[in-house]
Parts: sequence; C-alpha cells; structure tokens
Amino acid sequence: MTSPRVIPIVDQRPPRPSRGRVPAPMASSRTGDLLLPDSLHALPPLDRLKRPLHDLRISVTDRCNFRCSYCMPKEVFTKDYPYLPHGDLLTFEEIARLARAFVSLGVRKIRLTGGEPLLRKNIEALIEQLADIRTPQGQPLELTLTTNGTLLARKAASLKAAGLRRATISLDALDDTIFRQMNDMDYPVAGVLEGIAAARAAGLGPLKINMVVKRGVNDHEIVPMARHFQREGLTLRFIEYMDVGATNGWRMDEVLPSAAVLERLQHAAAQGMLPALAPLERAAPGETAERWGYADGSAEVGFISSVTHAFCGDCNRARLSTEGQLYLCLFAHQGHDLRGLLRAGASDEDIAAAISGVWQERTDRYSELRASLPPESLGAMRPRIEMSYIGG
Ligand code: SAM
Repeated sequence: MTSPRVIPIVDQRPPRPSRGRVPAPMASSRTGDLLLPDSLHALPPLDRLKRPLHDLRISVTDRCNFRCSYCMPKEVFTKDYPYLPHGDLLTFEEIARLARAFVSLGVRKIRLTGGEPLLRKNIEALIEQLADIRTPQGQPLELTLTTNGTLLARKAASLKAAGLRRATISLDALDDTIFRQMNDMDYPVAGVLEGIAAARAAGLGPLKINMVVKRGVNDHEIVPMARHFQREGLTLRFIEYMDVGATNGWRMDEVLPSAAVLERLQHAAAQGMLPALAPLERAAPGETAERWGYADGSAEVGFISSVTHAFCGDCNRARLSTEGQLYLCLFAHQGHDLRGLLRAGASDEDIAAAISGVWQERTDRYSELRASLPPESLGAMRPRIEMSYIGG
C-alpha cells in the first residue's frame, strides 16, 4: 500500500491589474489537494486519458519583435500592453529546476518558445543549463527552439555552442510585400532567410520551417514556399490558422484546411513544378505534424491541422508560461502555479509530485471538442490565454 501525502497548489497572488484592452493572462484560481503516492517516481504519470508526459514547451518571454495579426495584433499589443514585469519571469535557475522535475516525470524533449525566445537576454545561459540535464537513463534531452529567425544570423553559432540541438523557424511567405505585411513590422524576408542559412551553417538541423496559412492572405505563397524549401532540402510545415487567444479575431472562413493545401501541392506536382508527394509514417507518438515526403527523397512537408484534424488523442505536451504557470493545453484558460511553489521553498521532490498530480488529473482535449461544436458557438467558449504568453 502507498501512503498518500497532500500538497496544496494554491495561487495566492492578487490578480494583476489590467492596463491594456485585453485582460492580463489569468492566474490560476485552482485550489486543489493532490494525493501523492510515495511510489511517485516508480512510473511516469499518465493523464486521465492515459497520455504520458513527453514534451515540454517553455515560454521564456511574452514579448516579440513581430506583430503578426494572427498572434500579436498591433492594435492590442501596443507599447502600453501589460507585459509581464521582469520580477515575474522565472529565472534561468528556476526554469532549469522545473525542467529537471519534468524530466524525472518522463519529459524527453524541451522546446523554448515565446513570444520571441531570442529576445530573452543571454538565452544561451539557459540553454547551457538545460543541455546539462540528463534523463534517468543518462541521455541528453532533445533541445530545440522556435523562432521568427530575426536574431538567428547573429546568434546561431552561440546557440549551438551552448548546446541547442535544433531550430524551427517561422516564415509565412517568400513574397517580401506579403511577409512585411504579415509580420506588421515591415521586416524583410531576406533577414529570415539569412537566419535560416546561419542556423544551417551552425549545425542546428534538421531545420523545420513553419508557415501559418491564412486564406486570402498568404495562401498563394503555398507553392512558391514549397518549391523553395524542397530545393533547399528543408522540411516545410503548413499550420492551419488557429483560434488561439482572444485577440486575433479568428474566423473559420480564414482557415485553409490542410487537405486543401495538400491538394495544391499535388496539383503543382502534376504540373511538374514539384516532385510527387507520398505520406510518411509518423516519426514519434504525439507528433503534431502529419508528414509527407517528396518521392525523390529531397525533402518533407508537414501539416499541422489543429482545426480540421484534431490530434489531442496522443497529445503529450505540457507548457510552462513565462511566469511559471503550468498549462496542459494550448487552448487552456487556466494554469497551475509552479513559481509559487518554487519561491515558497518546495523541495525538488515536492515540485515533481505537484506536477505529477496535475498531469494525472489532465483531461484537456480542446481541439477535439471544438470539432464537435457548431462554428457559431465557438465565440461563447471561455477566454483563452494568448499564444505569446503560453508559448507556441
Ligand atoms: N516567435 C517565435 C516564432 O515566431 O516562431 C515563437 C513563438 S510563435 C507563437 C510559435 C509559432 O506559433 C509560430 O510558428 C507562429 O507562426 C505560430 N502561431 C502563432 N499564432 C498562430 C495562430 N493563430 N495559428 C497558427 N499558428 C500560430
């Protein structure tokens, strides 16, 4: 028999004042008593839907130097927006300590994100700490980050030297006018391509390129992007425009389903503009993208279809916000305060136990539920956390 211990997770902070048009990210209001068996570490925890914990996404800043309308629209994310004050951010030591607890519970892959992760000062120092972590079997972690690429030309070599293994770079168009409009900072495509080249030269591959597709905005860039990155031998992933957060004014008619993207690629292949494509096996359980490969082996494409083809069934991702809230779903509206535990002096064991307890209660499957609802009811669903805060 195991003897249960009880650890309360209570967020005792007063709500942060909201100064912008959008309320500050919601703090956890959950008050829960977690039953913790002493045999906690014997087996990695499963959630209520029997999903293990494997990936951890860590948002290291809620700030970004882009204002993509689908993520951080300029009208909302003004200079007066209530970004997190510096003291609220987890320190690198706190992040590394939490990461070790997550690894003890099964996490094998860590992705740094944001906001724009390369804006966090001296991010290399955090990467060094994370790169030192070993699994219980003595293996290093798969350590990667997602970036808009603007600072990569300058930082790729130092990131690699610090221990970063791979990078995913976001780029929504090759057409300079369209791209400048989409990032809404008049930033040129050339800067991101330079970043991609630097990442490649530094050995941060295999590189992946993320393209969010918005119908009527950049869908005519699908084939040019595919041709470019096929020739480069890099994986291009098409992401369906998602209803994350509460500020992007998401509408279903702006989503171009992955099936339609694939059809355009196949049409281009039939015209000899691209090699033929064939479906590939998933590389790992819980992988977000459906993979296809060019028949000549030159490159892959991926489809991330959270809107039309929900993949909650084997979702094994946890998310740690910039201020140390644990979220169990990209579409969550509430987190679990881990920073409070850290700063209250909890032991490593208690922290791991608390995370395990939260994970074991997890039932989240937002995208699947959304798929079963009529589009008109989506607006009435509870407000969600912004992607720039929770991490993409
Ligand atoms: N700043 C980094 C970047 O640009 O890659 C990391 C953070 S960003 C939130 C992570 C990924 O989420 C990017 O590839 C971005 O394009 C994607 N993203 C943001 N908002 C989205 C939305 N509404 N739908 C689909 N993807 C989105």
